[in-house]
Amino acid sequence: TGSEPSTPDDNVNVVVRVRPLSQKERQAGHESILQFPGNGQVMIDSGRDSGSRNKTNVRVFTYNVVFEPGATQDDILDYSGIKRLIEMAVEGFSCTAFCYGQTGSGKTHTLTGPPDLFQNRPNPADPRHGLIFRAFLYLFQMLKSRTDTHFVLKASFLEIYNEKVMDLLNTGSGRKPLTVRWSKKSGGFFVENLFTVDCEELDDLLAVLEEGMRNRAVGSHQMNDHSSRSHTILTVHIISEQKMEGGIFISKHGKINFVDLAGSEMTKKTMSEGTTLEEANNINKSLMVLGYCIASLSDSKKKSGHIPYRDSQLTKLLADSLAGKGVTLMIACVSPAQYNHAETLNTLRYAFRAKRI
Ligand code: ADP
Ligand code: MG
Repeated sequence: TGSEPSTPDDNVNVVVRVRPLSQKERQAGHESILQFPGNGQVMIDSGRDSGSRNKTNVRVFTYNVVFEPGATQDDILDYSGIKRLIEMAVEGFSCTAFCYGQTGSGKTHTLTGPPDLFQNRPNPADPRHGLIFRAFLYLFQMLKSRTDTHFVLKASFLEIYNEKVMDLLNTGSGRKPLTVRWSKKSGGFFVENLFTVDCEELDDLLAVLEEGMRNRAVGSHQMNDHSSRSHTILTVHIISEQKMEGGIFISKHGKINFVDLAGSEMTKKTMSEGTTLEEANNINKSLMVLGYCIASLSDSKKKSGHIPYRDSQLTKLLADSLAGKGVTLMIACVSPAQYNHAETLNTLRYAFRAKRI
């Protein structure tokens, strides 16, 4: 028998991670405009309004958790709520963890760690490993303890660039875009011919991560700024069969998506930076639709209303975790530097709207 999990009450978790000032920023005399009063609060002082000379611009936002600049990669694993997402995915839910924020705010650092980790086979004990690697370790630890259940894991890794879906695992086919289709059978969207790897061991999952990261890096060499304009989704399907008394089997199919979003600044940089209108609109739209979807997910009163997840490839592919049966973790990444104040404020607002606490 298959089982249909119902939506848990607390299905959206929003956390903020503040990256440290870089050495270059400190040397250039940049200062932090963020303070942390505690209880999930971030206080931002955007400086004086140019209009009214003496009025300061201090705002306070509250989230589930705030990671201050000193937080380690391990802290993100322990306190972001990702462990609960993995547990829910094992129980058959569709879960999504994503990083939102401007380019340079620490999205990729948080999810995967520095890209040079993947040039060679990384050492598992490396403290720079990101959330995905740590989540995989946690997942396998969990599965090992469940001796009554047979698990099958499958993983895929794709990139959405300018509304085109590219496979990050199977790049041999000349990087042709894949087609997103609606499946009547499963009642969901899927990517046709997406390379999906059976992962029996932890090493197989890690190989998927490494391969995708290497292929993503190739893309960024060919096109300046590529990674700030693309979304990537690494998906792990967790299919389980649990043997019950009387020869009955309970089967479940859950999954967890790890999403590294396009830079949120793309919504405005349009004309000035030579982005084509088509590109900017696509990124703009997918981030806006995503924000709207999450806000409706976290607000049960709005849940019955129309959720426009068909409006972008990103939200189509995340639809099953956004449109009901899902659990979502948003990690909003921000820079503390004064010169980033406008983007930091935008991100804090976006994250706050996703879940008013
Ligand atoms: P994004 O993916 O949002 O564009 P990155 O993850 O590439 O940003 O981070 C930009 C730079 O800042 C990188 O050099 C990265 O190593 C560094 N960085 C980001 N977050 C942290 C952090 N929490 N601690 C140390 N360095 C960080
Ligand atoms: Mg990045």
